[in-house]
Amino acid sequence: MNRCRYNFSPGPATLPRAVLEVMQHDMLDWQGTGKSVVEISHRDPAFVAIAASLERHVRQLLSVPDTHHVLFAHGGATMQFSALPLNCATEQLPAYLITGHWSRKAYKTALALTGADLVADSKATSDQAVPDINTWNIPADAAYLYYVDNETVNGVMLQQPPETHLPLVCDMTSSIFTQPIDVSRYGAIIASAQKNMGVAGLTMVIIHDDLLQRTPSQLLPPLLNYKLLQNCETMPNTICTFAWYSANLMCEWMQQQGGVTEMLRRRKLRSRAIYDSIDENALFSCVVDKAFRSPINPVFTLSSEDAVQRFLLESHAAGLHSLKGHRVVGGCRASLYNGLPVEGAQVLADFIRDFK
Ligand code: PMP
Repeated sequence: MNRCRYNFSPGPATLPRAVLEVMQHDMLDWQGTGKSVVEISHRDPAFVAIAASLERHVRQLLSVPDTHHVLFAHGGATMQFSALPLNCATEQLPAYLITGHWSRKAYKTALALTGADLVADSKATSDQAVPDINTWNIPADAAYLYYVDNETVNGVMLQQPPETHLPLVCDMTSSIFTQPIDVSRYGAIIASAQKNMGVAGLTMVIIHDDLLQRTPSQLLPPLLNYKLLQNCETMPNTICTFAWYSANLMCEWMQQQGGVTEMLRRRKLRSRAIYDSIDENALFSCVVDKAFRSPINPVFTLSSEDAVQRFLLESHAAGLHSLKGHRVVGGCRASLYNGLPVEGAQVLADFIRDFK
């Protein structure tokens, strides 16, 4: 077997080896059924038990209060860019804070579907910082205030949720399960699974009952209708069974490791190692404003395009894979999700420090 040493892919991302080994073991004969988990009906009681277990784990890991529903959907976080305004912005316009690539996409989608207000836009800083809070224009009566806490492409993190009386809606696709969160502060949280909670194909929506009750009775495409997704055990169609099963395994693994408090401890160790090494080697620089550096997706570059290419080639040859930056930003990016052992970040940090 020739697995790379460490994989810094932005997503779909590296999984803990222990989780992959359970998947490998289960693939021919899952729990003595004589079949794998992807070869049974999603309505089989054994599979429905996985769905119930997944919801239970999510509730425990994030201390989700009873006021909030946990929904699972298809279509990635991108589909939620449409589902959110269609379900929750039926009477007022939603408001969007743009801090980078993904919040801009979500804003454009809402603008086209229902109309949307813009709170502020980070384009003036080339998405390298969150716009100055004094420039934010939060409408008094918006349907919700939408933001992305961790902009995966730009490597920008908003450390604290915005202060507002509006329902807060946050895309936590790249930060979910990397820290404890106070779910009661949010109207809704969306996150696709392929970074910190399993494999691609599953998206989680944690939503306050008040927002869910806004879902209009007029016809919405069924898979976008939050009321139809309300009970994860009554699935509206064939769900991505492998993704649900994987998320359940990943949640079990996180609980065994010590939950999100432990995930946060590891996140701090990984990010400190990487940023310290970048700051120590004059060949490297991180363009993001220090106050907003993402602890999950450090984005960095080298003194020339030639040096970037050489770094990417040499790191790959050393078994450190997928460090290329997003195409719209260029340079390099090290994605440091839950599945990456802390030692992986330390090995990369040493490689950066020693790079000449
Ligand atoms: N939001 C954020 C913050 C992301 O990082 C991503 C994917 N990288 C998306 C949305 C889009 O997710 P998906 O590909 O699951 O639609």
